[in-house]
Amino acid sequence: MTNSLIGSNTIIIGAGPAGLAVGACLKQVGVQSIILEQSDKVGSVWRRHYDRLHLHTDKKNSKLPFAPFPKDYPRYPSRGQLIDYLESYAKKFGLDIRFNQQVTSARRDNNHWMVQTQDTRYQASNLVIAAGNARVPFIPEWKGRDSFKGRVIHSSEYKNGEQFKGQNVLVVGFGNSGGEIAIDLWEHGARPSIAVRNAVNVIPRELFGIPILSIGIAQNLMPAWMADAMNAPILRAVIGDTTKYGLRKLPYGPATQIQNDKHIPLIDVGTIKLIKQGRITVHSGVEEFTENSIKFADGKEAGFDAVILATGYRPRVNAFLNEPTTHDENGTPFSTGREASVPGLYFCGYYVSPTGMLREIAKEAGRISAEIVRKNNVRTEQDKNHIQRG
Ligand SMILES: Cc1cc2nc3c(=O)[nH]c(=O)nc-3n(C[C@H](O)[C@H](O)[C@H](O)COP(=O)(O)OP(=O)(O)OC[C@H]3O[C@@H](n4cnc5c(N)ncnc54)[C@H](O)[C@@H]3O)c2cc1C
Repeated sequence: MTNSLIGSNTIIIGAGPAGLAVGACLKQVGVQSIILEQSDKVGSVWRRHYDRLHLHTDKKNSKLPFAPFPKDYPRYPSRGQLIDYLESYAKKFGLDIRFNQQVTSARRDNNHWMVQTQDTRYQASNLVIAAGNARVPFIPEWKGRDSFKGRVIHSSEYKNGEQFKGQNVLVVGFGNSGGEIAIDLWEHGARPSIAVRNAVNVIPRELFGIPILSIGIAQNLMPAWMADAMNAPILRAVIGDTTKYGLRKLPYGPATQIQNDKHIPLIDVGTIKLIKQGRITVHSGVEEFTENSIKFADGKEAGFDAVILATGYRPRVNAFLNEPTTHDENGTPFSTGREASVPGLYFCGYYVSPTGMLREIAKEAGRISAEIVRKNNVRTEQDKNHIQRG
């Protein structure tokens, strides 16, 4: 542990898209910032994701401030292309990133933010937490889980289906990761099933050649129920009746789901076709594990060699942030993209939006940097007045 204290106007936690975007926006307006990143590279979470992953949102609407994706990238960049983009983004703006700095505590003290990593102390007027909405894998508890003889992994550990060839594999969870991992398993010669606990909505990645995100953006100003009412007949025609294949349809549409449940519907990149063809089997929610099988909520039971838990993540900012009024018990911030209830504190990247999280991150980063500049100017004025009075 070093005793020295490193000062900066702003400390940013996390060198993912959100931290880099805030760093770049601040750089453009001449505000000094340091980004603390626990891993040794930018975009570390995208390096960990499964190989098949491409953006579900189109590149035009997923870019960070001041830097479009390269022209030769496809409409939906791959995971590797996004990583390259993030690397050149950090270089382009000459961002001051301190790698291998895991923030263990952040608290407000005497009008400053004191940030502690495993070996260094930092002090700043402003703290931006951009540590990711998907920071910590969420793994539910199930009866009998320890007795199961097969392999059980979280989707964050899944790379590709190679090692599951010829196996019966259950994917638990019907989010975008679960839907795509089931496709990947089938493409690698496994026999995938998917356990779907709740009623769902499914939307295509594109409608008539237009990215679904662009439609979400165009409809963003109308009430969610109205957007859903407009889209329902088209979605029925394009996706079909999924209830025939064991899925239950939510009583409300995708826009209302995002607004009320803070949950993105399945953006289909081929899962529904494989379900319709009988190549992916749909089960109800998992009730219990036995030695070699899973018991489901509808009373059925089936044998599996492996289980992949696509059960999501939690932000858990409470693991390091000692400001209990700014987040709930899961560590999910109450606000994002503006100053929080404690002065000088900002969260970036915590809005689950129908217009895409990367697009929101870009907008939030601009707003946060403008707010920091405004507050810095107020502080400078106050200091000047103080000196003159003194
Ligand atoms: C599988 C998946 C696919 C997605 N696809 C899309 C998509 O197509 N389009 C879209 O708009 N959005 C998508 N998202 C949502 C979102 O845009 C991404 O998760 C994006 O990476 C969020 O950026 P971020 O910077 O907020 O968080 P992250 O990318 O998670 O980066 C957070 C960074 O903070 C670091 N960190 C965390 N804790 C600490 C600590 N204590 N100390 C220091 N560093 C720390 C991490 O190491 C990491 O580098 C997807 C999300 C997932 C999970």
